[in-house]
Order: sequence, then C-alpha cells, then structure tokens
Amino acid sequence: MGRGPRDRHAGGSSNSARKQTPGEGPQRTGCVVESYGRRVVVLTDDTAERLSCKIRGRRTAVVAGDRVRLEPESDAAGPGEWLVAESLPRRNVLQRTDSRGGVEDIASNLDQLGIVIAPRPTCDPFIIDRYLSGAEYAGIDGFLILNKQDLLGSPGFGPAEFAFLDVYRRIGIPVVTVSAKHGTGLDELKARLEGRRTLLAGQSGVGKSSLTNALCEGVYRATSELSVGSGQGKHTTVSSAIVQLPWGELTDSPGVRDYAPPVMPLPDIQRGYREIVQRAPGCRFQDCLHLREPQCAVQAAVQAGEIDPRRLESYRRLVNLTRQLDEKRGW
Ligand code: GDP
Ligand code: ZN
Repeated sequence: MGRGPRDRHAGGSSNSARKQTPGEGPQRTGCVVESYGRRVVVLTDDTAERLSCKIRGRRTAVVAGDRVRLEPESDAAGPGEWLVAESLPRRNVLQRTDSRGGVEDIASNLDQLGIVIAPRPTCDPFIIDRYLSGAEYAGIDGFLILNKQDLLGSPGFGPAEFAFLDVYRRIGIPVVTVSAKHGTGLDELKARLEGRRTLLAGQSGVGKSSLTNALCEGVYRATSELSVGSGQGKHTTVSSAIVQLPWGELTDSPGVRDYAPPVMPLPDIQRGYREIVQRAPGCRFQDCLHLREPQCAVQAAVQAGEIDPRRLESYRRLVNLTRQLDEKRGW
C-alpha cells in the first residue's frame, strides 16, 4: 500500500531509484513507516527495503505516511546511509493540538480514521466528537469501532448505554461492532479496512493493540513498541508508525490517545460537525456561530429534533475551548 496507486501519484517518481540526476547523485523515494523525531524508517519504492534514515535540515518535518526523497549522505558516512532530503506533497495530514496549544502533525496520506471505543473504559462522546472533527478537518473519513462486544449486555452495558451511537449512524458515520477477544465482527471490519490506510485511534485501554493483533492473524504480530507507555526504552519517542498488511495498512500513534483537534479559526470549527455545517446556510447571519444568534437554522433544527442537542453542546464546548486557548496566547 505504501506503493499503492495513490501514493505513486503523490510521490510522482516511484521509479526514480538510483536515477542519476546531473550534479545531484542518485536519488530514491519511499514512504515513512516509522517516525522517531529526527530519525525515520523509510520503505523504499524501488527495493521495498526498510531503511533507517536521518532527516537533513531542521526544517524538514516528517510523520508516518509521508512520501520522501532520499539522497546519499555526502560526507561519505559509509555505504547505505541515506538521508531524507525532502518531504513530498501530502494529500492530507491528521493534526492535533499539543499541550501548549500549538498544532502538531500526527500522520499523513491517510484514507480514514477508525475511532475505537469500548464499554470499558467508559466512553465520553465528546472525545468521539473531537476525533471526528480532526478527521473532517483533514478531509478523511471517520468511523467508529465498538470493541469488547462480548461485554455488551452485562450489567451497566445494556442497549441504553449505547443508544448515543445512533446519533452517529444518523449522520452517516458507520459503527462496526467487534470483539478483539473473541474475533467477532472482524470480517466486517476488514472489509472496511481493505485497500486503505487507516489510523486507529482511541483512549488507552479500549483494545487498539488487541484489535491490531487479532486483525493480523499471524501475518504480523503487533509488537508493543508503540502501545506500551512504560516511559522507558528507545521506542518511547516514536511519534507514529505504519503496519503493512496484505489487506490494508494500519497506522498507530501514541499522539492520538488524548486527542484534541487542531485549533481552528472560530468560524471553521463547525466544519467538524457535518450536520451543523449542512444547516448553516439557513441561518440569518452568514457568519452565525450558532451560539445565541437570532434566527439560527442550527438551533431551530435542534428544537425540531433534527440535530442532537448533545452534538450542538459538544460543538459549543469546542468553540469555548478554542476561545480559551486564543486568550492564553493573546489572540
Ligand atoms: P489499547 O491500550 O487500546 O491498546 O488496549 P489493549 O489492546 O492493551 O487492551 C486493553 C485491555 O482490554 C486488555 O486487558 C485486553 O485484554 C482487553 N480487551 C481488548 N479487547 C477486548 C475484547 O474484545 N473484549 C474484552 N472483554 N476485553 C478486551
Ligand atoms: Zn446559526
């Protein structure tokens, strides 16, 4: 998939392996499959090797999914040493707000975001909304994976507790129910992952690693490199990685465990809520933020029972959060 049709278009030079460009030496291209800050692992287009490469220059920032151009290190550091010389244009990038209110890239060239939830740990719908907003801002599809199906029906995990998921189905967000433990629902999930690059996100403990292992079925045993937050060892600095499988690609990133979407200008925040954006043209004011403005079509839709009040509340929380951040930064 790193060499799939879309990537070839994005990179535009997948067959440029060792092609001699006058004055520039040999060049190669590839896809970043693991990112450790200034060092990355690149899967090369020409030989499908996994090369550990340093990044040239402080300004080149890459994340898993990026297509890159490699050049041999010029100071003869030995054969086989390749540098990431340049990051090639992306078709999309999933971003987050970091703890200081800045915007950080998580992974690029994704097809979809799979948001894993479970009966335990308790699911906060606002977290789902934040992930979905991030996906909408990146222009990728978001969908929900309800894991630990085997726990459903036991006390406290009845149908009423999960009725809130209907709201997502109604706005066109698919919900796939699975059990990583018992292997149920995995065929439906695989069909949705097929041929796509999916980033699996979700709170710690929802079962992302278990799910990855279950999906891999002996093809690949997901190591705990990314999942074990021991705070020790060389792998703790990894920012994102891609697992390539015969039927698709999974991307994992510790950066999506406690997720806040990138800070947006106030009028753009609603883009994360598709049912709100859909109604906005009916508002009296073109720049309506659907807070307390008169003749607001979004508020009218909530009153008519066509938009879930919790979703509007969730949107307003995101607006408030953004305002607080803007104040902190003196904007
Ligand atoms: P992660 O932090 O999202 O990667 O979650 P893990 O994969 O480490 O799983 C967290 C806990 O949930 C572990 O104790 C798993 O055994 C358990 N778990 C994962 N999937 C299931 C499931 O389908 N059913 C049940 N009952 N437990 C599960
Ligand atoms: Zn409005």
